Amino acid sequence: MRQRTLLSADQIAARVRTLADTLAARFEGQDVVAIVVLHGAMVFAVDLLRAMPDTNLFLTTLRIASYHGTERAGPVRLIHDVPVDLRDRHVLVIEDIVDSGHSLAFLRRHLATCEPASVTVVALLDKPSRREVDVAADLVGFTIEDRFVVGYGLDLDGRLRHLPYLAELIPDEA
Ligand code: IMP
Ligand code: MG
Repeated sequence: MRQRTLLSADQIAARVRTLADTLAARFEGQDVVAIVVLHGAMVFAVDLLRAMPDTNLFLTTLRIASYHGTERAGPVRLIHDVPVDLRDRHVLVIEDIVDSGHSLAFLRRHLATCEPASVTVVALLDKPSRREVDVAADLVGFTIEDRFVVGYGLDLDGRLRHLPYLAELIPDEA
């Protein structure tokens, strides 16, 4: 497969700073539990959270799985839950991408059972044309077309997450 750069490292960095400023203002004076949804959101989260050093954060992770290759593979599973009680806490969920919406719908349902004070979801990318369930992030970095993208945390079967930019994968001609 070939790659075509969709968003450069500089374009991503500028948008991430804006998202961080928005979130820092929203959470001013609050104590926040930031949940990085592994593995896809880890690169985004590292840059985002370091750009909001004045926010009071407890940083943790959660792991779900649903994806194999470029197609979604069955139901979403919770692999690791957060190790803290979220009751009455302000929660910031950091996601890589909202595609069909099944993962985010699962996460929102799961977190609601923990009875947090609030849930804010920030997603780096949104592919609204792929949506199968009616769910949305509160804050989105970039809205993109129906393309399979890799880099900046997003993978193809565990690979290409470390690219500093976001690239579209183009299948080879048959
Ligand atoms: P959803 O449940 O279909 O919304 O998919 C969410 C998950 O699928 C994301 O957290 C990603 O891990 C993965 N995913 C969706 N689209 C892409 C993509 O274009 N590239 C890499 N991973 C993707
Ligand atoms: Mg993911």
